Amino acid sequence: MHSCDGCTMCCKFMKVEEISKAGNVWCEHCKIGSGCRIYDERPASCRVYECVWLKTQALEKPMPLALRPDRSKVVIGTGNQGEDIVLYVTPDRADAWQQKEFAPLLGEFQRRGIAVAVSCNDVLRRII
Ligand code: SF4
Ligand code: SF4
Repeated sequence: MHSCDGCTMCCKFMKVEEISKAGNVWCEHCKIGSGCRIYDERPASCRVYECVWLKTQALEKPMPLALRPDRSKVVIGTGNQGEDIVLYVTPDRADAWQQKEFAPLLGEFQRRGIAVAVSCNDVLRRII
C-alpha cells in the first residue's frame, strides 16, 4: 500500500466539481500537509483520484521522491482518456516543470511517444 504521505497538493491544484472547488486554491476541507478533514464524506472524485506520481509508487520503477507534487510543485496527471500526460502547475511556479529532476522523465515520455502538455490556469501548452 502506497500513500500520499501528507502531500495534499491535488487538494490545491485540481478542481472538484461536487463541492465547486476551483483549481489553484486550497480546498476548504484540506489540512495542508496532512490530509482531508472530511475524509469519510469526501466527494467521489476525491475518492478515486490518484496522480501519476502516486500510481507509479506501486511499480517496479517508481517516480522519485523529488517529483512528489509537494516537493516538485507539479501534479502529474493524464489527459485524452489516459493517453497523454498533463503537468499541472500554478501561476506562481509556472516553470516548475523545467526543474532538472523532470528531465529524465520528459526524455522517457519522448522516447515512448507519449504527448505531454503543461496546464496552468486551464491554459494547455503542448511541450512534447
Ligand atoms: S498530488 Fe498525488 S501524491 Fe499528492 S496528495 Fe494528491 S494523489 Fe497524493
Ligand atoms: S474534499 Fe478532501 S480530498 Fe477532496 S479536495 Fe477537499 S481536502 Fe482534498
